[in-house]
Amino acid sequence: MPNNIENNLASYALKSSNSRGRKYKEEPPMLRSEYQRDRERIIHSTAFRRLEYKTQVFVNHEGDMYRTRLTHTIEVAQIARATARALNLNEDLTEAIALAHDLGHTPFGHAGQDILNSCMKEFGGFEHNIQSLRIIEKLENKYASFPGLNLCFETREGILKKCSKERAKKFGVVASRFIEKKQSSLEAQLTNVADEIAYNNHDIQDGIKAKKISVEQLEEVPLFFDQMKITLKKYPKLYGSKIVHETVRLIINLLVTDLINNSNKNIIDLNIKTISDVRDSNDLIINFSDGIKNLNINLKKFLHKNLYKHPDVLEMTSQANYIIKDLFSAYIADIKLLPKDYYQYNLKKINKNDKERVICDYIAGMTDRFALQEHIKLYK
Ligand code: MG
Repeated sequence: MPNNIENNLASYALKSSNSRGRKYKEEPPMLRSEYQRDRERIIHSTAFRRLEYKTQVFVNHEGDMYRTRLTHTIEVAQIARATARALNLNEDLTEAIALAHDLGHTPFGHAGQDILNSCMKEFGGFEHNIQSLRIIEKLENKYASFPGLNLCFETREGILKKCSKERAKKFGVVASRFIEKKQSSLEAQLTNVADEIAYNNHDIQDGIKAKKISVEQLEEVPLFFDQMKITLKKYPKLYGSKIVHETVRLIINLLVTDLINNSNKNIIDLNIKTISDVRDSNDLIINFSDGIKNLNINLKKFLHKNLYKHPDVLEMTSQANYIIKDLFSAYIADIKLLPKDYYQYNLKKINKNDKERVICDYIAGMTDRFALQEHIKLYK
C-alpha cells in the first residue's frame, strides 16, 4: 500500500496504517490506500446505483432537474472532501463515509422511512442510518470471500452516525462509542456537517425552482437575505435564478469557511493532537461558530415550516404511506411474491428465518419508481 499518500495528514487524522482493519482479512491493496479501496467499493455497489432513483425531497418522476439521493450524495462528498483537504484530514475516508451515508434510505424519502418503521414496530423497527450499515455489512452480495463490502472499521463506524444504547449493545464493536460515550473521528464528524450544508442549500434551490417557496419568503431568513444583498451589491443588474444561484454559492462558501476556521480553533483550544484526543473530547470538534450555528438553525426552521411541510410535499407523504403499507402487507401474506433467489438467500443466510426483516430489507432497497410499479402490479 502506498503509505506515502497519507504521510502529510494531520496527527489527529485517521490513517490506513492505523486502521482497525476489515472483518474478513484481505491482502492490502497494491496501488491504493485502504480507505480509497472502501470508497471505490461503495461506488461499485448496487445500493449506490439505486440512489439515482430515490427521492431527496421531490419524487424522482416530478422532474429531472431536482436533486435525487445520488446527486445529493455527490454534493455531500464534494463539500466533505474539500473541507477535509483544508483541515488536513483523510480525504479518502471522508469521501467513503459521505458516499455511503444515505445508502439505507427507503423510497419516498423520510416519509418512506417513517412508514416502514411503523410497519416494523413489533419486529425491531427501521432506521435508515442503521440500514446503511446493514447494506455494507450484509446485504450487498457480490464478493466471493465475504458478505457485504468488508469495509474498514473506521468507514463502518463513520456511517453509523446515530445509535441508541440498546441497539449499540447488539452491534458490538462498531457501535461501542455510543456505549463508551466517545466521539467519532473528525472525518465522520465532518461528513455529518457537510450533509447538512448540502441539503439546506440545495433544498433552497429546488424549493424555489419547484415554486414551493419564494425568494420573497426567504428574505425573512437572515443567512439568505444578507448574502443576497451582497450578491446584488456586486451584480446590481442580475435577475432570475442567477440571483438564487449566486446567493446559495455565497452561503455555502460562508458556511464552509466558518466550519474550517472554527474547527481549527477548536483543535487548538482543546489541544487536540491525536486520534485519542478526538475520541475523548467532550464536545464535537468539527462545528460551526455560535453565530453561524444560529443562522443555520434559523434556515433549517424556515425550510421545515415552508418546504418540508408544504401541502404538495405532504401529499407525497400520504402516497408513500399507503404504497409502503400495501407492499408490506402483501409480502407478509405471501413472501413468495419476492424474487425466489432473493427471499431464499436472505431468509436463510442473512436473516435466520426472520421473514419481516427480509421483507423490510427488500422494500427499503426499492427505488421510488420500482415501488410504484410493484404496487400497480400487486394492486391493479
Ligand atoms: Mg444525506
